[in-house]
Amino acid sequence: MDKKVRVRFAPSPTGGLHLGGVRTVLYNYLFAKQHNGTFVLRIEDTDQTRFVEGAEEYIQECLTWCGLVPDESPLHGGPYAPYRQSERKDMYRQYAEQLVKQGNAYYAFDTPQELEEMRVKFKTEENPSPQYGHTIREKMRNSLSLGQAEVGRLLGEGLPYVIRIKMPENETLTFTDMIRGEVSFNSSLTDDKVLLKADGMPTYHLAVVVDDYLMKITHAFRGEEWLPSAPVHILLWKYLGWINEMPQWAHLPLILKPDGHGKLSKRDGDRLGFPVFAMNWKDPKNAELTTGFRELGFLPEAFINLLAVLGWNDGTEQELFTIEELIERFSLDHVHKGGAKFSYDKAKWFNHEWIKRYKAEGLRQKVKEVFTGNGLELKEDENLDKVIELVKDRCTLLTDFWQQGSFFFVAPATIDVASIKPKWNDDKAMFFDILAEKLTVLEDWTAEAIETLFKETAAEKNIKMGELQLPFRIMLVGGKFGPAVIDIAALIGKEETIKRIRTGLKLLS
Ligand code: GLU
Repeated sequence: MDKKVRVRFAPSPTGGLHLGGVRTVLYNYLFAKQHNGTFVLRIEDTDQTRFVEGAEEYIQECLTWCGLVPDESPLHGGPYAPYRQSERKDMYRQYAEQLVKQGNAYYAFDTPQELEEMRVKFKTEENPSPQYGHTIREKMRNSLSLGQAEVGRLLGEGLPYVIRIKMPENETLTFTDMIRGEVSFNSSLTDDKVLLKADGMPTYHLAVVVDDYLMKITHAFRGEEWLPSAPVHILLWKYLGWINEMPQWAHLPLILKPDGHGKLSKRDGDRLGFPVFAMNWKDPKNAELTTGFRELGFLPEAFINLLAVLGWNDGTEQELFTIEELIERFSLDHVHKGGAKFSYDKAKWFNHEWIKRYKAEGLRQKVKEVFTGNGLELKEDENLDKVIELVKDRCTLLTDFWQQGSFFFVAPATIDVASIKPKWNDDKAMFFDILAEKLTVLEDWTAEAIETLFKETAAEKNIKMGELQLPFRIMLVGGKFGPAVIDIAALIGKEETIKRIRTGLKLLS
Protein backbone atom coordinates (compact mmCIF):
# COMPACT_ATOMS: atom_id res chain seq x y z
CA MET A 1 0.00 0.00 0.00
CA ASP A 2 1.55 3.27 -1.05
CA LYS A 3 -0.52 5.71 1.04
CA LYS A 4 -0.43 5.62 4.82
CA VAL A 5 -3.54 3.73 5.94
CA ARG A 6 -6.13 5.89 7.70
CA VAL A 7 -9.47 4.42 8.72
CA ARG A 8 -12.36 5.82 10.69
CA PHE A 9 -15.31 4.84 12.81
CA ALA A 10 -17.99 7.45 12.30
CA PRO A 11 -20.93 6.86 14.61
CA SER A 12 -23.90 9.12 15.12
CA PRO A 13 -24.21 9.44 18.90
CA THR A 14 -27.87 8.62 19.28
CA GLY A 15 -27.97 5.83 21.86
CA GLY A 16 -26.40 2.59 23.01
CA LEU A 17 -23.62 1.05 20.91
CA HIS A 18 -24.90 -2.05 19.13
CA LEU A 19 -22.53 -5.01 18.93
CA GLY A 20 -22.51 -4.58 15.13
CA GLY A 21 -21.08 -1.11 15.69
CA VAL A 22 -18.33 -2.53 17.90
CA ARG A 23 -17.52 -5.10 15.23
CA THR A 24 -17.15 -2.23 12.72
CA VAL A 25 -14.76 -0.56 15.17
CA LEU A 26 -12.86 -3.81 15.57
CA TYR A 27 -12.37 -4.43 11.85
CA ASN A 28 -11.27 -0.81 11.40
CA TYR A 29 -8.86 -1.18 14.28
CA LEU A 30 -7.42 -4.50 13.12
CA PHE A 31 -6.90 -3.20 9.61
CA ALA A 32 -5.23 -0.04 10.89
CA LYS A 33 -2.91 -1.89 13.27
CA GLN A 34 -2.03 -4.46 10.65
CA HIS A 35 -0.89 -1.73 8.28
CA ASN A 36 0.72 0.55 10.86
CA GLY A 37 -2.06 2.95 10.08
CA THR A 38 -4.18 5.40 12.01
CA PHE A 39 -7.59 4.76 13.50
CA VAL A 40 -9.82 7.83 13.71
CA LEU A 41 -13.02 8.27 15.71
CA ARG A 42 -15.23 10.92 14.12
CA ILE A 43 -18.51 11.87 15.72
CA GLU A 44 -21.23 12.39 13.10
CA ASP A 45 -23.61 14.62 15.01
CA THR A 46 -24.98 16.88 12.31
CA ASP A 47 -28.55 15.83 12.90
CA GLN A 48 -29.33 18.08 15.84
CA THR A 49 -32.83 16.66 16.18
CA ARG A 50 -31.31 13.32 17.13
CA PHE A 51 -28.90 14.71 19.72
CA VAL A 52 -28.80 12.50 22.81
CA GLU A 53 -27.13 13.66 25.99
CA GLY A 54 -24.20 11.47 27.02
CA ALA A 55 -24.18 9.30 23.89
CA GLU A 56 -20.76 10.49 22.71
CA GLU A 57 -19.10 9.91 26.09
CA TYR A 58 -20.72 6.49 26.14
CA ILE A 59 -19.14 5.58 22.78
CA GLN A 60 -15.72 6.71 23.98
CA GLU A 61 -16.11 4.62 27.13
CA CYS A 62 -17.15 1.57 25.11
CA LEU A 63 -14.03 1.85 22.95
CA THR A 64 -11.86 2.21 26.03
CA TRP A 65 -13.45 -0.82 27.67
CA CYS A 66 -12.92 -2.87 24.51
CA GLY A 67 -9.29 -1.71 24.28
CA LEU A 68 -9.94 -0.30 20.80
CA VAL A 69 -8.63 3.15 21.52
CA PRO A 70 -8.55 5.57 18.58
CA ASP A 71 -5.38 7.42 17.60
CA GLU A 72 -7.35 10.55 16.71
CA SER A 73 -10.71 11.53 18.20
CA PRO A 74 -12.54 14.40 19.91
CA LEU A 75 -10.92 13.22 23.14
CA HIS A 76 -7.40 12.54 21.85
CA GLY A 77 -7.26 15.35 19.27
CA GLY A 78 -5.12 15.04 16.17
CA PRO A 79 -3.98 16.87 13.06
CA TYR A 80 -7.43 16.97 11.46
CA ALA A 81 -9.37 18.30 14.47
CA PRO A 82 -12.13 18.98 15.21
CA TYR A 83 -13.42 15.41 15.06
CA ARG A 84 -17.00 16.32 15.88
CA GLN A 85 -18.92 17.28 12.77
CA SER A 86 -21.10 19.84 14.53
CA GLU A 87 -17.89 21.77 15.22
CA ARG A 88 -16.96 21.62 11.53
CA LYS A 89 -20.26 23.14 10.39
CA ASP A 90 -18.67 26.04 8.52
CA MET A 91 -16.49 23.79 6.37
CA TYR A 92 -19.29 22.12 4.44
CA ARG A 93 -21.29 24.93 2.85
CA GLN A 94 -18.61 25.90 0.34
CA TYR A 95 -18.68 22.40 -1.15
CA ALA A 96 -22.45 22.39 -1.46
CA GLU A 97 -22.29 25.82 -3.14
CA GLN A 98 -19.55 24.58 -5.45
CA LEU A 99 -21.86 21.77 -6.55
CA VAL A 100 -24.70 24.24 -7.20
CA LYS A 101 -22.36 26.37 -9.33
CA GLN A 102 -21.26 23.32 -11.29
CA GLY A 103 -24.88 22.30 -11.92
CA ASN A 104 -24.60 19.13 -9.83
CA ALA A 105 -26.84 20.40 -7.04
CA TYR A 106 -29.63 22.93 -6.61
CA TYR A 107 -31.53 25.02 -4.08
CA ALA A 108 -34.92 23.67 -3.10
CA PHE A 109 -37.47 25.85 -1.32
CA ASP A 110 -40.27 23.34 -0.81
CA THR A 111 -41.94 23.45 2.57
CA PRO A 112 -42.64 20.23 4.50
CA GLN A 113 -46.28 20.62 3.50
CA GLU A 114 -45.40 20.88 -0.20
CA LEU A 115 -43.28 17.76 0.10
CA GLU A 116 -46.18 15.93 1.67
CA GLU A 117 -48.51 17.09 -1.10
CA MET A 118 -46.00 15.86 -3.68
CA ARG A 119 -46.07 12.39 -2.12
CA VAL A 120 -49.84 12.28 -2.37
CA LYS A 121 -50.10 13.86 -5.82
CA PHE A 122 -47.61 11.62 -7.60
CA LYS A 123 -48.50 8.41 -5.85
CA THR A 124 -49.55 5.68 -8.25
CA GLU A 125 -49.95 1.95 -8.03
CA GLU A 126 -46.55 1.35 -9.65
CA ASN A 127 -44.94 4.09 -7.62
CA PRO A 128 -46.47 4.08 -4.12
CA SER A 129 -43.80 6.31 -2.58
CA PRO A 130 -42.70 8.91 -5.15
CA GLN A 131 -39.24 10.36 -4.60
CA TYR A 132 -37.89 13.84 -5.12
CA GLY A 133 -35.83 12.98 -8.20
CA HIS A 134 -35.47 13.35 -11.91
CA THR A 135 -39.14 12.67 -12.77
CA ILE A 136 -40.54 15.11 -10.24
CA ARG A 137 -37.93 17.77 -9.52
CA GLU A 138 -39.03 20.04 -12.39
CA LYS A 139 -42.51 20.21 -10.83
CA MET A 140 -41.24 21.34 -7.44
CA ARG A 141 -40.02 24.72 -6.17
CA ASN A 142 -36.29 24.75 -6.74
CA SER A 143 -33.58 26.53 -8.66
CA LEU A 144 -34.05 24.17 -11.62
CA SER A 145 -37.76 24.82 -12.04
CA LEU A 146 -37.89 28.51 -11.07
CA GLY A 147 -36.29 31.29 -13.09
CA GLN A 148 -33.00 32.83 -11.99
CA ALA A 149 -34.67 36.08 -10.96
CA GLU A 150 -37.19 34.27 -8.78
CA VAL A 151 -34.46 32.23 -7.14
CA GLY A 152 -32.50 35.41 -6.47
CA ARG A 153 -35.59 37.01 -4.97
CA LEU A 154 -36.34 34.03 -2.69
CA LEU A 155 -32.75 33.85 -1.52
CA GLY A 156 -32.76 37.61 -0.96
CA GLU A 157 -35.90 37.31 1.14
CA GLY A 158 -34.13 34.78 3.30
CA LEU A 159 -36.60 31.98 2.59
CA PRO A 160 -35.40 28.70 4.09
CA TYR A 161 -33.94 26.30 1.56
CA VAL A 162 -31.97 23.11 1.30
CA ILE A 163 -29.37 22.09 -1.27
CA ARG A 164 -30.08 18.83 -3.06
CA ILE A 165 -27.83 16.74 -5.26
CA LYS A 166 -29.05 16.45 -8.85
CA MET A 167 -28.89 12.72 -9.49
CA PRO A 168 -28.18 12.00 -13.15
CA GLU A 169 -30.62 9.88 -15.11
CA ASN A 170 -29.78 6.33 -16.03
CA GLU A 171 -26.08 6.39 -15.27
CA THR A 172 -24.39 3.23 -14.07
CA LEU A 173 -22.30 3.91 -10.99
CA THR A 174 -19.77 1.26 -10.06
CA PHE A 175 -17.22 0.78 -7.34
CA THR A 176 -15.17 -2.15 -6.08
CA ASP A 177 -16.06 -3.16 -2.56
CA MET A 178 -13.24 -4.89 -0.68
CA ILE A 179 -15.64 -7.63 0.44
CA ARG A 180 -18.27 -7.79 -2.28
CA GLY A 181 -16.18 -7.04 -5.35
CA GLU A 182 -17.78 -4.95 -8.08
CA VAL A 183 -21.08 -3.33 -7.10
CA SER A 184 -23.20 -1.31 -9.56
CA PHE A 185 -26.18 0.99 -9.17
CA ASN A 186 -28.49 2.74 -11.59
CA SER A 187 -28.48 6.42 -10.66
CA SER A 188 -32.17 6.82 -11.54
CA LEU A 189 -33.17 4.74 -8.53
CA THR A 190 -31.81 7.17 -5.96
CA ASP A 191 -33.60 10.39 -5.05
CA ASP A 192 -32.04 13.84 -4.97
CA LYS A 193 -30.72 13.61 -1.44
CA VAL A 194 -30.48 16.74 0.65
CA LEU A 195 -26.83 17.75 1.13
CA LEU A 196 -27.21 20.92 3.15
CA LYS A 197 -30.15 21.47 5.46
CA ALA A 198 -32.11 24.66 6.10
CA ASP A 199 -30.26 25.13 9.41
CA GLY A 200 -26.96 25.22 7.51
CA MET A 201 -25.88 21.80 8.76
CA PRO A 202 -24.73 19.27 6.21
CA THR A 203 -26.53 15.95 6.01
CA TYR A 204 -24.64 12.72 6.57
CA HIS A 205 -24.04 12.31 2.81
CA LEU A 206 -22.19 15.57 2.33
CA ALA A 207 -20.39 15.50 5.67
CA VAL A 208 -19.12 11.94 5.31
CA VAL A 209 -17.60 12.63 1.90
CA VAL A 210 -16.07 15.98 2.81
CA ASP A 211 -14.60 14.65 6.04
CA ASP A 212 -13.30 11.42 4.57
CA TYR A 213 -11.55 13.59 2.00
CA LEU A 214 -10.23 16.23 4.40
CA MET A 215 -9.14 13.61 6.94
CA LYS A 216 -7.36 11.62 4.21
CA ILE A 217 -9.26 8.42 4.93
CA THR A 218 -7.93 5.59 2.77
CA HIS A 219 -10.28 2.71 3.71
CA ALA A 220 -13.82 2.90 5.01
CA PHE A 221 -15.49 0.02 6.82
CA ARG A 222 -19.17 0.34 7.54
CA GLY A 223 -22.28 -1.77 7.89
CA GLU A 224 -24.03 -3.20 4.87
CA GLU A 225 -27.03 -0.98 5.59
CA TRP A 226 -25.01 1.93 4.15
CA LEU A 227 -24.58 0.30 0.75
CA PRO A 228 -27.63 2.10 -0.76
CA SER A 229 -25.92 5.42 0.04
CA ALA A 230 -22.88 4.52 -2.03
CA PRO A 231 -24.18 5.94 -5.37
CA VAL A 232 -24.68 9.38 -3.81
CA HIS A 233 -21.23 9.25 -2.26
CA ILE A 234 -19.52 8.14 -5.46
CA LEU A 235 -21.11 11.07 -7.32
CA LEU A 236 -20.03 13.52 -4.63
CA TRP A 237 -16.45 12.28 -4.79
CA LYS A 238 -16.62 12.66 -8.56
CA TYR A 239 -18.31 16.08 -8.70
CA LEU A 240 -16.02 17.54 -6.07
CA GLY A 241 -13.04 16.45 -8.16
CA TRP A 242 -11.69 13.98 -5.61
CA ILE A 243 -12.56 10.65 -7.18
CA ASN A 244 -8.93 9.49 -7.19
CA GLU A 245 -8.82 10.01 -3.43
CA MET A 246 -12.01 8.06 -2.70
CA PRO A 247 -11.41 5.55 0.09
CA GLN A 248 -11.75 1.87 -0.64
CA TRP A 249 -15.03 0.70 0.80
CA ALA A 250 -15.82 -2.44 2.71
CA HIS A 251 -19.48 -2.99 3.56
CA LEU A 252 -19.60 -5.45 6.43
CA PRO A 253 -22.19 -8.23 6.58
CA LEU A 254 -25.12 -7.77 8.91
CA ILE A 255 -25.33 -9.47 12.28
CA LEU A 256 -28.55 -11.48 12.14
CA LYS A 257 -31.11 -12.59 14.70
CA PRO A 258 -30.42 -16.09 16.11
CA ASP A 259 -32.91 -17.63 13.67
CA GLY A 260 -31.18 -15.90 10.74
CA HIS A 261 -34.23 -13.86 9.79
CA GLY A 262 -33.24 -10.21 9.59
CA LYS A 263 -30.91 -7.85 11.34
CA LEU A 264 -30.41 -8.28 15.09
CA SER A 265 -32.00 -5.35 16.90
CA LYS A 266 -32.05 -4.18 20.47
CA ARG A 267 -35.67 -5.27 20.60
CA ASP A 268 -34.65 -8.85 19.72
CA GLY A 269 -32.26 -8.81 22.65
CA ASP A 270 -34.99 -7.56 25.01
CA ARG A 271 -37.41 -10.16 23.67
CA LEU A 272 -35.00 -13.11 23.82
CA GLY A 273 -33.21 -12.06 26.98
CA PHE A 274 -29.69 -11.23 25.90
CA PRO A 275 -27.66 -8.03 25.53
CA VAL A 276 -27.14 -6.26 22.23
CA PHE A 277 -25.35 -3.14 23.48
CA ALA A 278 -21.69 -3.20 24.53
CA MET A 279 -22.36 -1.53 27.88
CA ASN A 280 -25.37 -0.48 29.95
CA TRP A 281 -27.23 2.34 28.28
CA LYS A 282 -29.64 4.55 30.13
CA ASP A 283 -31.89 6.49 27.80
CA PRO A 284 -31.90 10.07 29.14
CA LYS A 285 -35.38 10.65 27.70
CA ASN A 286 -37.24 8.01 29.65
CA ALA A 287 -34.54 6.66 32.02
CA GLU A 288 -35.02 3.21 30.50
CA LEU A 289 -31.98 1.03 31.20
CA THR A 290 -30.68 -1.48 28.67
CA THR A 291 -28.16 -3.95 30.03
CA GLY A 292 -24.88 -4.32 28.21
CA PHE A 293 -22.33 -7.11 27.76
CA ARG A 294 -19.93 -5.42 30.17
CA GLU A 295 -22.33 -5.26 33.09
CA LEU A 296 -23.61 -8.77 32.45
CA GLY A 297 -20.12 -10.02 33.15
CA PHE A 298 -18.33 -10.30 29.83
CA LEU A 299 -14.59 -9.82 29.57
CA PRO A 300 -13.62 -7.31 26.90
CA GLU A 301 -11.25 -9.88 25.33
CA ALA A 302 -14.13 -12.35 25.00
CA PHE A 303 -16.46 -9.71 23.61
CA ILE A 304 -13.90 -8.71 20.98
CA ASN A 305 -13.15 -12.32 20.16
CA LEU A 306 -16.78 -13.27 19.62
CA LEU A 307 -17.35 -10.22 17.44
CA ALA A 308 -14.26 -10.91 15.35
CA VAL A 309 -15.56 -14.31 14.33
CA LEU A 310 -19.09 -13.10 13.62
CA GLY A 311 -18.49 -12.83 9.91
CA TRP A 312 -14.82 -13.71 9.71
CA ASN A 313 -12.51 -16.71 10.19
CA ASP A 314 -8.82 -17.19 9.59
CA GLY A 315 -9.35 -20.08 7.19
CA THR A 316 -8.89 -22.70 9.95
CA GLU A 317 -11.15 -24.07 12.69
CA GLN A 318 -9.59 -21.81 15.32
CA GLU A 319 -12.12 -19.75 17.25
CA LEU A 320 -10.20 -18.31 20.18
CA PHE A 321 -7.97 -15.40 19.28
CA THR A 322 -6.09 -12.80 21.27
CA ILE A 323 -6.11 -9.27 19.91
CA GLU A 324 -2.49 -9.75 18.81
CA GLU A 325 -3.46 -12.85 16.84
CA LEU A 326 -6.37 -11.00 15.30
CA ILE A 327 -4.14 -8.15 14.21
CA GLU A 328 -1.80 -10.63 12.62
CA ARG A 329 -4.39 -12.86 10.93
CA PHE A 330 -7.29 -10.57 10.04
CA SER A 331 -7.88 -10.44 6.34
CA LEU A 332 -10.75 -9.11 4.30
CA ASP A 333 -10.57 -12.16 2.02
CA HIS A 334 -12.06 -14.18 4.85
CA VAL A 335 -14.87 -11.78 5.74
CA HIS A 336 -18.13 -13.39 4.63
CA LYS A 337 -20.52 -11.67 2.27
CA GLY A 338 -23.60 -13.13 3.93
CA GLY A 339 -24.94 -12.11 7.33
CA ALA A 340 -23.71 -13.82 10.50
CA LYS A 341 -26.21 -15.33 12.96
CA PHE A 342 -25.77 -14.24 16.55
CA SER A 343 -25.96 -16.92 19.23
CA TYR A 344 -25.95 -15.91 22.88
CA ASP A 345 -24.96 -19.41 23.97
CA LYS A 346 -21.92 -19.17 21.74
CA ALA A 347 -21.18 -15.71 23.11
CA LYS A 348 -21.20 -17.15 26.63
CA TRP A 349 -18.98 -20.00 25.53
CA PHE A 350 -16.37 -17.47 24.45
CA ASN A 351 -16.56 -15.73 27.79
CA HIS A 352 -16.20 -19.00 29.67
CA GLU A 353 -13.14 -19.91 27.63
CA TRP A 354 -11.61 -16.53 28.30
CA ILE A 355 -12.26 -16.73 32.03
CA LYS A 356 -10.54 -20.13 32.05
CA ARG A 357 -7.55 -18.73 30.19
CA TYR A 358 -7.00 -15.99 32.70
CA LYS A 359 -4.67 -16.23 35.67
CA ALA A 360 -6.28 -15.29 38.99
CA GLU A 361 -4.26 -12.12 39.13
CA GLY A 362 -5.83 -10.82 35.93
CA LEU A 363 -9.36 -11.49 37.18
CA ARG A 364 -8.79 -10.25 40.73
CA GLN A 365 -9.96 -6.68 40.24
CA LYS A 366 -13.01 -7.66 38.22
CA VAL A 367 -14.09 -10.30 40.72
CA LYS A 368 -13.64 -7.81 43.54
CA GLU A 369 -15.99 -5.46 41.71
CA VAL A 370 -18.57 -8.24 41.40
CA PHE A 371 -18.29 -8.85 45.15
CA THR A 372 -18.47 -5.16 45.99
CA GLY A 373 -21.55 -4.89 43.76
CA ASN A 374 -23.14 -7.53 45.97
CA GLY A 375 -22.22 -5.68 49.12
CA LEU A 376 -19.07 -7.60 50.10
CA GLU A 377 -15.82 -5.67 50.55
CA LEU A 378 -12.76 -7.92 50.53
CA LYS A 379 -9.52 -7.23 52.26
CA GLU A 380 -7.33 -10.30 51.83
CA ASP A 381 -6.24 -10.63 48.25
CA GLU A 382 -4.23 -13.77 48.79
CA ASN A 383 -7.26 -15.90 49.51
CA LEU A 384 -9.18 -14.31 46.67
CA ASP A 385 -6.61 -15.52 44.15
CA LYS A 386 -6.90 -19.06 45.48
CA VAL A 387 -10.69 -18.87 45.31
CA ILE A 388 -10.54 -17.61 41.73
CA GLU A 389 -8.26 -20.48 40.73
CA LEU A 390 -10.61 -22.98 42.37
CA VAL A 391 -13.85 -21.74 40.81
CA LYS A 392 -13.06 -20.00 37.54
CA ASP A 393 -13.68 -23.12 35.44
CA ARG A 394 -17.25 -23.06 36.75
CA CYS A 395 -17.92 -19.45 35.76
CA THR A 396 -19.41 -18.42 32.43
CA LEU A 397 -19.94 -14.78 33.30
CA LEU A 398 -17.88 -12.70 35.72
CA THR A 399 -21.03 -12.26 37.76
CA ASP A 400 -21.04 -16.04 38.38
CA PHE A 401 -18.09 -15.52 40.72
CA TRP A 402 -20.59 -14.30 43.30
CA GLN A 403 -22.60 -17.50 43.32
CA GLN A 404 -19.50 -19.70 42.90
CA GLY A 405 -17.15 -17.89 45.22
CA SER A 406 -18.89 -15.74 47.83
CA PHE A 407 -19.33 -18.63 50.33
CA PHE A 408 -15.55 -18.63 50.80
CA PHE A 409 -15.88 -15.25 52.47
CA VAL A 410 -19.33 -15.25 54.05
CA ALA A 411 -21.38 -18.14 55.40
CA PRO A 412 -24.20 -19.07 53.03
CA ALA A 413 -27.39 -17.16 53.69
CA THR A 414 -29.49 -20.29 53.23
CA ILE A 415 -28.64 -23.96 53.48
CA ASP A 416 -30.34 -26.53 51.32
CA VAL A 417 -31.24 -28.88 54.21
CA ALA A 418 -34.00 -30.43 52.10
CA SER A 419 -31.33 -32.15 49.99
CA ILE A 420 -29.67 -33.68 53.07
CA LYS A 421 -32.73 -34.66 55.09
CA PRO A 422 -33.97 -37.75 53.20
CA LYS A 423 -30.74 -39.64 53.93
CA TRP A 424 -29.96 -38.07 57.27
CA ASN A 425 -29.73 -40.26 60.39
CA ASP A 426 -28.26 -40.32 63.89
CA ASP A 427 -25.03 -41.95 62.75
CA LYS A 428 -24.36 -39.14 60.37
CA ALA A 429 -25.21 -36.55 62.98
CA MET A 430 -22.76 -38.23 65.32
CA PHE A 431 -20.11 -38.36 62.63
CA PHE A 432 -20.27 -34.61 62.07
CA ASP A 433 -20.29 -33.96 65.78
CA ILE A 434 -17.11 -36.00 66.25
CA LEU A 435 -15.58 -34.50 63.11
CA ALA A 436 -16.12 -31.01 64.48
CA GLU A 437 -14.47 -32.03 67.76
CA LYS A 438 -11.46 -33.56 66.00
CA LEU A 439 -11.08 -30.59 63.67
CA THR A 440 -10.91 -28.31 66.69
CA VAL A 441 -7.65 -29.91 67.75
CA LEU A 442 -6.22 -30.37 64.26
CA GLU A 443 -2.99 -28.40 64.12
CA ASP A 444 -1.97 -28.83 60.52
CA TRP A 445 -4.88 -27.12 58.69
CA THR A 446 -4.21 -28.40 55.18
CA ALA A 447 -6.44 -30.17 52.68
CA GLU A 448 -4.44 -33.39 53.14
CA ALA A 449 -4.72 -33.39 56.92
CA ILE A 450 -8.44 -32.56 56.83
CA GLU A 451 -9.03 -35.33 54.32
CA THR A 452 -7.15 -37.91 56.38
CA LEU A 453 -9.11 -36.99 59.45
CA PHE A 454 -12.38 -37.07 57.56
CA LYS A 455 -11.59 -40.54 56.13
CA GLU A 456 -10.45 -41.97 59.47
CA THR A 457 -13.57 -40.75 61.24
CA ALA A 458 -15.80 -42.15 58.48
CA ALA A 459 -14.03 -45.50 58.78
CA GLU A 460 -14.44 -45.51 62.55
CA LYS A 461 -18.15 -44.88 62.21
CA ASN A 462 -18.39 -47.29 59.33
CA ILE A 463 -20.04 -44.81 56.98
CA LYS A 464 -19.11 -44.56 53.31
CA MET A 465 -17.31 -41.37 52.28
CA GLY A 466 -19.82 -40.90 49.46
CA GLU A 467 -22.63 -40.61 52.02
CA LEU A 468 -20.87 -37.86 53.89
CA GLN A 469 -19.48 -35.61 51.25
CA LEU A 470 -22.79 -34.15 50.12
CA PRO A 471 -23.98 -33.10 53.58
CA PHE A 472 -20.52 -31.66 54.29
CA ARG A 473 -20.63 -29.70 51.07
CA ILE A 474 -24.11 -28.34 51.72
CA MET A 475 -23.14 -27.28 55.24
CA LEU A 476 -20.13 -25.36 53.97
CA VAL A 477 -21.50 -24.00 50.68
CA GLY A 478 -25.26 -23.89 51.10
CA GLY A 479 -26.01 -26.01 48.02
CA LYS A 480 -24.88 -28.76 45.70
CA PHE A 481 -22.13 -26.90 43.89
CA GLY A 482 -18.57 -25.70 44.15
CA PRO A 483 -15.09 -27.25 43.93
CA ALA A 484 -13.78 -30.17 46.04
CA VAL A 485 -15.27 -29.83 49.52
CA ILE A 486 -12.01 -30.53 51.34
CA ASP A 487 -10.37 -27.66 49.43
CA ILE A 488 -13.20 -25.42 50.53
CA ALA A 489 -12.70 -26.36 54.18
CA ALA A 490 -8.96 -25.81 53.87
CA LEU A 491 -9.51 -22.36 52.50
CA ILE A 492 -12.25 -21.06 54.74
CA GLY A 493 -10.23 -22.06 57.80
CA LYS A 494 -10.74 -24.01 60.97
CA GLU A 495 -13.04 -21.72 62.87
CA GLU A 496 -15.38 -21.11 59.97
CA THR A 497 -15.54 -24.80 58.99
CA ILE A 498 -16.47 -25.85 62.49
CA LYS A 499 -18.99 -23.04 62.80
CA ARG A 500 -20.72 -24.10 59.58
CA ILE A 501 -20.83 -27.77 60.64
CA ARG A 502 -22.41 -26.74 63.91
CA THR A 503 -24.99 -24.55 62.15
CA GLY A 504 -25.77 -27.42 59.76
CA LEU A 505 -26.23 -29.84 62.62
CA LYS A 506 -28.59 -27.47 64.37
CA LEU A 507 -30.71 -27.06 61.26
CA LEU A 508 -30.87 -30.82 60.80
CA SER A 509 -31.71 -31.77 64.35
N1 GLU B 1 -22.74 8.12 10.69
C1 GLU B 1 -22.93 6.85 10.08
C2 GLU B 1 -23.44 5.92 11.16
O1 GLU B 1 -24.07 6.37 12.06
C3 GLU B 1 -21.63 6.38 9.49
C4 GLU B 1 -21.73 5.50 8.29
C5 GLU B 1 -20.36 5.45 7.60
O2 GLU B 1 -19.44 4.87 8.18
O3 GLU B 1 -20.23 6.00 6.52
O4 GLU B 1 -23.24 4.73 11.18
